[in-house]
Amino acid sequence: GAIADTLTRSVENVTGTLSETFFEPTLRLGVTGLSRAGKTVFITSLVANLMDRARMAQLVAESEQRILSAFLQPQPDDTLPRFDYETHLGALTARTPHWPDSTRAVSELRLSLKIRPAGLLAGLQGPRTLHLDIVDYPGEWLLDLSLMDKSYAEWSQDMLERLELRPGGPETLDRIRAEDGSAELDETRARALSEAYTQSLHAARNAGFSDCSPGRFLLPGELEGSPVLTFAPLPAVSGAPRRSLYREFERRYDSYKSRVVKPFFRDHFSRIDRQIVLVDALGAIHAGPRAMEDLRRTLAEILTAFRPGTNAFLTNLLMGKRVEKILFAATKADHLHHLQHGRLTGIMEALTREARDRARFAGAETQAMSIAALRATTEQMMPHQGSELPCVRGTLMDSGKQAAFYPGELPEDPTHLLGSAREGAEKWLDQDYSVMNFAPAPLTLKPGEGPPHIRLDRAAQFLIGDRL
Ligand code: GDP
Repeated sequence: GAIADTLTRSVENVTGTLSETFFEPTLRLGVTGLSRAGKTVFITSLVANLMDRARMAQLVAESEQRILSAFLQPQPDDTLPRFDYETHLGALTARTPHWPDSTRAVSELRLSLKIRPAGLLAGLQGPRTLHLDIVDYPGEWLLDLSLMDKSYAEWSQDMLERLELRPGGPETLDRIRAEDGSAELDETRARALSEAYTQSLHAARNAGFSDCSPGRFLLPGELEGSPVLTFAPLPAVSGAPRRSLYREFERRYDSYKSRVVKPFFRDHFSRIDRQIVLVDALGAIHAGPRAMEDLRRTLAEILTAFRPGTNAFLTNLLMGKRVEKILFAATKADHLHHLQHGRLTGIMEALTREARDRARFAGAETQAMSIAALRATTEQMMPHQGSELPCVRGTLMDSGKQAAFYPGELPEDPTHLLGSAREGAEKWLDQDYSVMNFAPAPLTLKPGEGPPHIRLDRAAQFLIGDRL
């Protein structure tokens, strides 16, 4: 509870950052999701809306008018990049609004909220402050958790199997198999091989496949070009000599685990109190059954990070600390008329069911939701062959023209989308979805057009409402 948190904090203050005021509680909110899931837009919009508060009616403390102010402050971690809120907001609020640059690495932002206590305490206590430390990090990095309990040989075998089924994968496989792992390492060949493998990860990603490890190969940050990112899976070689390609790749893989993966989990992940996992479910549904099946598997793998019992490395690291609440949010719900939002939430629930059951077992409260952090569309019913189609209208990014679209329909039964990776399975969202490349709407919609987001306030209520 809050008191325990405060006590922990003050102990931390004595041993760690002395600058932190005593008895001002802190809540660390992790924001993650695969690349392009919507993390940057979510954080920017959440912070802007919490500072403005005009459109956060479902946040109880706000509807009770107890949030007196919200302001940005220097973050507590000096060596972590700051989430570039001002630049991202600038992109969204420019004269011709455009989408901000996406998340490429971990970053942090501290938003401090001054709150009037609720109920009986209101008269007895002055306002208190809650520091909300928002930590943005790529979901791809969570996939690396599975590497911690895998040897290089095991990981190689897994990845080579996956390559077989992916666009462009067989070519990369041929190339990898043509290499002699027991031959002496040649750095130029090693680099070329690693680049080919990285490219196949990008191709898989672009085709809608999600499980692309190692996570830093797609989002290298400052590690780009370093040996720890210059390796690839290889077929097992028995008795590979020292200095061979195989032994060197094995060594780099181990170094990746201890020097890259481990510090991230120790320094960032293990300190998170609340978590939102953003998922571009609509994108995967549109990409087709194989991408959807891949997303399901990848989410299951990502979510093992929230079930520490399944991973020895993480269990030791967390020592009983756990994330208290996890929200699974399908993003970009503004691509659909609200008549279909219930189905989207149902799909999100089905996608994360197993993980949610287990997280609940471990004590975390979980929920699934459909949201749009920044609503780029308005709704419109359009006559079509004697009936009406529920459409959304927005400004297209390429042409700047306004148009109404019907993205297609989602199945009523989410299981129609899951576990059926077979070719020729039914197509969903197969109508206008692929051309719906909307520009961000100016943050101010006209009255009657609804709030500039969809359920962002509900998401905030779930994640932090109990602490306000
Ligand atoms: P990140 O990689 O997780 O940081 O993803 P971003 O936040 O950069 O979002 C990726 C892209 O998804 C954006 O450039 C937008 O095109 C789109 N997007 C994100 N959020 C929304 C939203 O709420 N509505 C709409 N229509 N598009 C969104």
